[in-house]
Amino acid sequence: MTTLRLAAHIHTACSDDSDWGLSRLARILRRSGFGGALVCDHDRTMDDATWAALQAECDRVGDATGFVLVPGIEYQDPDHVVHLPVYGRAPFYGASPEISDVLSRVRGDGGAAVFAHPGRREAWRRFDPSWADGLAGIEVWNRKYDGIRPSEWAARTAHGFGIPAFTALDWHGPRQLYPLAVEVASPTTTGNRARADGVVDDLLTGRLRATAFGADVARFSSGPLGRAARGLESSRRWIAPHIRRLEAGIRSR
Ligand SMILES: [Zn+2]
Ligand SMILES: [Zn+2]
Repeated sequence: MTTLRLAAHIHTACSDDSDWGLSRLARILRRSGFGGALVCDHDRTMDDATWAALQAECDRVGDATGFVLVPGIEYQDPDHVVHLPVYGRAPFYGASPEISDVLSRVRGDGGAAVFAHPGRREAWRRFDPSWADGLAGIEVWNRKYDGIRPSEWAARTAHGFGIPAFTALDWHGPRQLYPLAVEVASPTTTGNRARADGVVDDLLTGRLRATAFGADVARFSSGPLGRAARGLESSRRWIAPHIRRLEAGIRSR
C-alpha cells in the first residue's frame, strides 16, 4: 500500500488572509514531499458561488497536476473562538454557524469536520463531549498556533474520546511549512474528484495517521520525544523575546 501525504488546513486566495493560488500551492507543497492538500478557506469570505468555484478549481488543478486537492471550508463560531475546518463537499452552512449545528449534520452531508487549534483563544474550554461523534479529528499540532510541539490538551482529548489526532500547517504562507502530515492510503481511482472524495471517506472512517517528521504524532506527546519537544518549545519561547529585542536594536541604529 502506498501512502498519500496530505498537507492539512491550507488557506488559498479564497481567504481574506492568504493570496495563494492552487497551482502555486500544489507546486511548493509537492516539492516539500506532499502528494495532496486539505484546502480550507474561511466561512467569512465564502458564499455558494465561491464554494462551487473552489471545488471546481480544486478538480481542475488536481486533474492537471495529479496533486490531490480536497476542497473545504473553515467555520468559526458566532464569537470567533472555535474554528472548525470541514473537508469534503458538504454544502456551505453560512458564515459563523453554531458548531453543534454543523456537527450534528456534517457526517450525513459527507463532510469531515476537525476541531482546529484548540489552544487559540482557549477554544478548548468550549469543547463539548457531544461533539465527539461528529468530529473526524482534533488538531493536536497546528503549526501556526502550537509552534514546534503538540498541544497537550488536544492529544489527551483525542485519545480520551477516540477522536483521530490531526496535524495542520494552517498555511497562509511558507512560514507554516513544517513536516506535519495527515497520511491516508493512496487512492487507486483517477481524477481529482474521485480521489478527493476517497480521501474524505478515509477521514470519515478514521483511516488516517497524523505524523510529525514522518513519525506518529502521538510519539511527540509523551515519552522521550515528547519531553524533548517540550524542552525545545520552552527554550524557543524564552529565546524569542530576546531575539526580537536584538532585532529591534539593530533596526533602530
Ligand atoms: Zn483558524
Ligand atoms: Zn485556518
